[in-house]
Amino acid sequence: MTTTYDFWLAGRRASGDADFEVHNSWDGRLVGKVSIPTEAQVEEALEAAVAALPVFAATPAHVRSAALDHVARRLAERTEEIAQLITAENGKPIKWARGEVGRAVSVFRWAAEEARRTNGETMRLDTDPGGVGRFALVRRFPRGVVLGIAPFNFPLNLVAHKVAPAIAVGAPIILKPAPATPLSAMVLGEILAETELPAGSWSVLPVPNDRMPALVQDPRLPVISFTGSDKVGYQIMDSVPRKHTTLELGGNAAAVVLADWSSEADLDWAATRIAMFANYQGGQSCISVQRVIADASVYDALVEKVVAKVRTQVTGDPKDDATDVGPLVDENAAKRVESWVDDAVAKGAKLLTGGTREGATYAPTVLSELPADAILATCEVFGPVLSLHKVDGVDEAFAAVNDSPFGLQAGVFTHDLQTAFRAHRELEVGGVIIGDAPSYRADQMPYGGVKDSGVGREGVKYAMDDYTVEKVMVLTGL
Ligand code: NAD
Repeated sequence: MTTTYDFWLAGRRASGDADFEVHNSWDGRLVGKVSIPTEAQVEEALEAAVAALPVFAATPAHVRSAALDHVARRLAERTEEIAQLITAENGKPIKWARGEVGRAVSVFRWAAEEARRTNGETMRLDTDPGGVGRFALVRRFPRGVVLGIAPFNFPLNLVAHKVAPAIAVGAPIILKPAPATPLSAMVLGEILAETELPAGSWSVLPVPNDRMPALVQDPRLPVISFTGSDKVGYQIMDSVPRKHTTLELGGNAAAVVLADWSSEADLDWAATRIAMFANYQGGQSCISVQRVIADASVYDALVEKVVAKVRTQVTGDPKDDATDVGPLVDENAAKRVESWVDDAVAKGAKLLTGGTREGATYAPTVLSELPADAILATCEVFGPVLSLHKVDGVDEAFAAVNDSPFGLQAGVFTHDLQTAFRAHRELEVGGVIIGDAPSYRADQMPYGGVKDSGVGREGVKYAMDDYTVEKVMVLTGL
């Protein structure tokens, strides 16, 4: 029997008068149905969130922290069940799904810790004659109710990155999961409902996309935390320029392999990491390796190793422990990737491996000699496709990384400390990973992009800063 998942309205289970289906992209089976909130129910959630704002903001830190600890513990206890659900709704290989649950546990643990820390600072004001006898207290307060909008590719962890910091600061949140993958967010709702968080402080509402512009415009939601495509993200920001909006968007991340990264062991490590992180989750990660930029002195040896390692990636049923690369989110996504590879090859790119599609699954693919006018040269592929570029020296390598509309993270394989610091200074990205692929992320790190990759930072503490605003109080006559 198919399960119909209720949504969560002001901390309570609720159902609307219609539902939509969620299918598995590997075998097309129906995984579950999700109830859609009516407009009146969305209104109820909004009113409850606004009413909860002063209550939640005043909730003691130990209560918020205990709730976050509870969520972390329950997610950990239910890891296998939730991982299987992520694999079912998203098509992500089970080993990556287990990893995702582990990361969400870590996000809630970090938030539990951060919620306990004192907030704000004191500031001396007697630095000028007019400030003698005064000092200032700077504290942070929630900006208001948060609208969190999540993408499909990490259905639990990117939801965790919206919800946990909101609880940590006492900001009510309305969470909108992705339509392709709403189920794990509904299970997270089940766990949140076990806590003592105030009524109205959280809702999980699978609102259809065509009703989202009205929610985005609603003045009762002054903070929007969006993760998804640059197209939708900037459309939101342009439509509400006065709201506090953070955008975590796409990328075409580069891995740079420099001349000093040349031993057999060096190249083996680089090729292993590049092959894995070009293809994990079918390349559907905003920091998947899309471009490899290698110094001419190591290029040939690296190409040979990368192609060999990519060929060892096991493609297949995402439920199998051995599977590295599962299907994309749906068949249309795989057809789009196929058409972009075909476009590149028609324009002169060399296909070194892959280039085939079966249903929603696209084979791990490596290209070289990618012409500048290929779609793949500038757009985010969001599929298991890698292009290799030969450069001469560090200047050319860094210029190639920056020759992109995006700037999320870059990986630089070098042993040289000066070059590492130079990469940190000069690469136009939100994060530089030395000695590894660009795809490394720890959930407490500031994470986000520049250029078309977005505005603002996630990473628990940084999202907490985004959800709050500093307010100063000056004390006089002391
Ligand atoms: P998407 O932009 O299609 O959808 C993201 C969310 O926005 C979904 O919940 C969707 O329902 C909602 N949405 C759609 N139309 C909307 C509208 N008009 N108003 C408000 N909300 C609307 O993105 P996706 O396909 O789910 O995710 C893939 C994208 O996300 C890729 O570009 C990827 O790089 C990016 N991403 C970025 C990060 C990051 O942290 N930088 C992380 C993961 C994914």
